[in-house]
Amino acid sequence: MTGGPAAPLKGKVALITGASSGIGAAAAQVFARQGAVVVLAARRGSRLSQLVDDLRRTGAEARYHVVDVRDGEEIRRVVDLTVQQYGSLDVAFNNAGAGIDKTPLHLIDDAAYELIMGTNARGTWNCLRYEIAAMLAGGGGAIVNTSSVGGLVASAAGAPYIASKHAVIGLTKAAAVEYAPHGIRVNAIAPGLTRSEMVEEWFALNPAGEKRAFASAPQARAADPQEVAEAAAWLCSDLASFVTGATLTVDGGRTAW
Ligand code: NAP
Repeated sequence: MTGGPAAPLKGKVALITGASSGIGAAAAQVFARQGAVVVLAARRGSRLSQLVDDLRRTGAEARYHVVDVRDGEEIRRVVDLTVQQYGSLDVAFNNAGAGIDKTPLHLIDDAAYELIMGTNARGTWNCLRYEIAAMLAGGGGAIVNTSSVGGLVASAAGAPYIASKHAVIGLTKAAAVEYAPHGIRVNAIAPGLTRSEMVEEWFALNPAGEKRAFASAPQARAADPQEVAEAAAWLCSDLASFVTGATLTVDGGRTAW
């Protein structure tokens, strides 16, 4: 059911990138359940198509676009189409991300660096500039960018990933300050280890590694993607009306340790 009493995103038009799996797919469900019209973007059209079918069966308004966030023109097209189709863009969850590469820094080649920085940092930049232009025209909005605990502290995730997720927080703060007077809030989430498909596969192959990863973590487990999506939905909603420029850790206490 959409649009019921617990519908803080009722009537909002929301763009979600990286919606074909993991946190983004969970966000598509959470945002739609909270009443949003959801426009989903990623590269794997078959996944998005299936998700849109599932959402429509619950009564939600949903559609998808096949997009590579590294290409600014593709993002511009999706934002323009969304405004044409629904009249505005109210909410954006810039969540598409390319993963961890544990190759030592001095052995990482340019292509690997470009892939990670291009998706995470440039991709967030591409989204912000066109989303903000649409939100300015529409009188305001709310944006959430997916960083990581790797955007706050270094880890073995690889230097390009850590740098790109720090960049996401920098872009978030700069945009929040610049556009607060225009009624646009911009925040980041910093998830800890979350049970995406890639993480599940790694856990299956490395049960000892999973135990070790949480041996000293306060909540001693990984997040379910839905737990991260709920935090993003809250930040996108008017319930968070005085929150901007913030980075919300969703990490079971990992960075408080
Ligand atoms: P995931 O299931 O691998 O999701 C990544 C999403 O990004 C997919 O939908 C993927 O879709 C999309 N994507 C990747 N490159 C893209 C591109 N160039 N253009 C458009 N879409 C692209 O993993 P996830 O954990 O849900 O990751 C979501 C976000 O959370 C990422 O930003 C990630 O860095 C961040 N994060 C994850 C964890 C974790 O432990 N899982 C922790 C902290 C932060 P397509 O392949 O279909 O394009």
